[in-house]
Amino acid sequence: MSILVKKNRPVLTVHTGDEHVGSTVALMPPNVETDDGGSYQASVVQQWYWQCWLEFWKDTERLKRQYNAEVVYIHGGDEGEGDHHGTRQIWFVSDADQERAIEAVFAVAAKVVDSWVWVRSTEAHDGPSSAGTEQRAERMARQGANVVRNGALYSHWIYTGIHGGVRFQVKHQPQTRGHLLYTRDLAAGRQALLTWEGYAEDQIDPPDICVWHHVHYRARGWFRNTFCYVCPPWQLPTSWSMGKLQSSPHIEWPGGMRFLCRDGDWQPFELRFRPESGVAWARK
Ligand SMILES: [Zn+2]
Repeated sequence: MSILVKKNRPVLTVHTGDEHVGSTVALMPPNVETDDGGSYQASVVQQWYWQCWLEFWKDTERLKRQYNAEVVYIHGGDEGEGDHHGTRQIWFVSDADQERAIEAVFAVAAKVVDSWVWVRSTEAHDGPSSAGTEQRAERMARQGANVVRNGALYSHWIYTGIHGGVRFQVKHQPQTRGHLLYTRDLAAGRQALLTWEGYAEDQIDPPDICVWHHVHYRARGWFRNTFCYVCPPWQLPTSWSMGKLQSSPHIEWPGGMRFLCRDGDWQPFELRFRPESGVAWARK
């Protein structure tokens, strides 16, 4: 005799970060009206990022429908580029331009997302105390979006939550990194271990999944039952990383992760997009 088990409705958590809207080499809407009456037109590669962004959310909507899931978007920080380090690689004239573009980018997600979690990021990109993310999250909540609060605040430095019975921790900046192709996943494993130990020290169950951003590469690692995922960026290597980190014209594939969670079990749905190579002899 089979027993009919009534399962809870699944939750689909969605993870992206490092969109760096405002950068001349990152995701942005096709066109933005600027504060002083002009406009900025996205470059060819920015238009490609935009198409990928639309595709990412179309696919997330498909998953939502297929599994009848509730969508929780846990955003990992650095949604804006900010005016930092005297960079010349920004297109906006005033901060208002950048805010307008960020709103247009996340309006795409708003059609699919049921609730929002905003994780704070780096001061260079997000302003002192990462106040930009807090202000955006608060504005969004006041406009009626379902933003997961952090006490009196609207954003989180380190987010912890249980979704579909699965324990999550999400933070922008990992403690350990490895920029070489053969050290990335190892660093993700180390990070899983460090996070696991932090919980063990406090005699608290560790997260099932921890998600990180900031390092602008994608990686995966494990320690015991804790899975660590590092999200890819939506930005080309900037002049800064071109000078320091690049060993080839490799462009990190933009995209993100979705975890389908139900009754404590989870299944990953990663989606990334292959950029056109700039290598002289690469096939088109
Ligand atoms: Zn970043």
